[in-house]
Amino acid sequence: MRHYVGGGFDASGVPFPLVDPVTGRTVGEVPAASRELVDRAVGAAREALRGPWAGWSPAERSRALHRIADGIEGRFEEFVAAECADTGKPRALAATVDIPRAVANFRSYADLLAGRSERSWHTGTPDGRGALNYTVRKPLGVVAVVSPWNLPLLLLTWKVAPALAMGNTVVAKPSELTPSTACLLAEVIAGAELPADVFQLVHGQGADAAGQWLTEHPGVDAVAFTGESRTGSAIMRAAADRLAPVSFELGGKNAGLVFADADLERAVEGTLRSAFTHSGQVCLCTERVYVERPVFEEFAGALAAGAKDLAGYGPMISAAHRAKVLGHLDRAAADGEVLAGGGVPSFGDARDGGFWVEPTVLTGLPEDHPAVREEIFGPVVHLAPFDTEEEALALANAGPYGLAATVWTGDVSRAHRVAPALDVGIAWVNTWNLRDLRTPFGGVKASGIGREGGDHSLDFFSEPMNVCVKL
Ligand code: NAD
Repeated sequence: MRHYVGGGFDASGVPFPLVDPVTGRTVGEVPAASRELVDRAVGAAREALRGPWAGWSPAERSRALHRIADGIEGRFEEFVAAECADTGKPRALAATVDIPRAVANFRSYADLLAGRSERSWHTGTPDGRGALNYTVRKPLGVVAVVSPWNLPLLLLTWKVAPALAMGNTVVAKPSELTPSTACLLAEVIAGAELPADVFQLVHGQGADAAGQWLTEHPGVDAVAFTGESRTGSAIMRAAADRLAPVSFELGGKNAGLVFADADLERAVEGTLRSAFTHSGQVCLCTERVYVERPVFEEFAGALAAGAKDLAGYGPMISAAHRAKVLGHLDRAAADGEVLAGGGVPSFGDARDGGFWVEPTVLTGLPEDHPAVREEIFGPVVHLAPFDTEEEALALANAGPYGLAATVWTGDVSRAHRVAPALDVGIAWVNTWNLRDLRTPFGGVKASGIGREGGDHSLDFFSEPMNVCVKL
């Protein structure tokens, strides 16, 4: 595990342990960047803004992004193994989602950039000769990218790719729990023939450590962050003094709505996926499902049976995170009903030292219960009945978050009525987590600020400037 600063790999700093969530064993060490190293990384990234990178055309940057994508593909199995080792997620998930999506992140922004154009206007003037207005897009400068542990490479590259596409330089700080694929990415970028110092990588914790030192650094021009909402608040405060722009993808408490007219089998299958993918540790996962009363019992029975049958799921990321999830489950078991799971699975092997939680289905809790209101970020879903469409919408829209929601219905008019009325950034109808990387991605309320994806990211990572030429 090494930092990548000033064009060199560097293992300086006090090491902290890297723990395998599958077994709970310490499997390595990660060096925590000192404040001086963070300073050096930001300084090198600033210096690179004045180097040859500034003269690279969009076409050259687009080709560079494709070379990075090629580099990840060329070491695909290493990336998959590193992501699985850090997160404990099943290989199938890393090999079909995390790593291919990281490749797609670079390719999609490369392609978008190559085809992008800015607007121009011919403006009338009193002398009849007119003026030409056109827009020039400039990079923001040095961008800090701070990312979480749940989809480590996917979410890191979701920001690094568009930031580089628009000609910024980047200092990245991955989650301290999942640093491995970021190290591999630094190696790939080091070999992708970009100008020196365009990309820097530092490791370390968040508060009072590399994350905070980076985001409050006066040499950082913008911060792109994915993580918890309260971390977002801390970063916003750190960026406020210098009015640095922020792009935030934060927490969620996503609702599913199942109407009686839905294809129930499909709704159950979809909800199993939306609640339990990566053991619920995806920001888009559904944690509360409201089911129209006539089909509530049938849906609840089928979902609980499906949860009990789930195989091949992974552990929680850490002992601390599991303790938080189990704390919610203890209170929920006391105040409501557990239809499936609710505890810690027993394997009779080394996994018993890891951070596992059973896929869990709850019901019977009031709406103001912490397990129904707060983000759990584990394999836990709560079911409650509703009677009318209005009530369903009110339930889904309650609470502090507004990231994503899923509607299951066979009525096309209802689908188009309900989906846009949800207070979220992303609404799926009869599916979950179906993504087109050009679409706006992000949340409202405490779930985020701004949108990522396609032109939304390219716009965030650049400053439009107007030039007016009198003809
Ligand atoms: P986290 O906020 O604890 O950490 C995220 C990153 O921020 C880490 O790299 C961490 O070191 C750093 N950090 C922590 N404190 C910091 C500080 N004071 N200053 C600067 N950096 C700091 O989040 P996490 O536990 O890694 O990730 C899980 C959270 O991420 C959940 O809330 C989840 O909903 C959210 N998430 C959101 C999305 C989305 O797209 N909306 C996607 C994935 C995860």
